[in-house]
Amino acid sequence: MGNCVKCKQPIEESKGTGRKKVYCSVACRRAAELEIRRINERITGLERITESYRLKIPVLDLYGKEEDVLAELNRQEIRLKELLAGMDG
Ligand SMILES: [Zn+2]
Repeated sequence: MGNCVKCKQPIEESKGTGRKKVYCSVACRRAAELEIRRINERITGLERITESYRLKIPVLDLYGKEEDVLAELNRQEIRLKELLAGMDG
């Protein structure tokens, strides 16, 4: 039995479909859609910062070290994939 990737509640195994459910409810699926939008914006911002590092454009101190920005970008992409796993079909 898996857990909802949005609210972490256990999900009842659905019989017959053979597909693993990712969301426990329509509400969580909708909430995940909104989170996906926010993550996309966050990733766009982080990519802009990593581009600045690549192009040797001075980056504000508040963005932190390049490796930290890349690590955060990686975390956001992992979360995005987790949320997207249940979106098709
Ligand atoms: Zn849920």
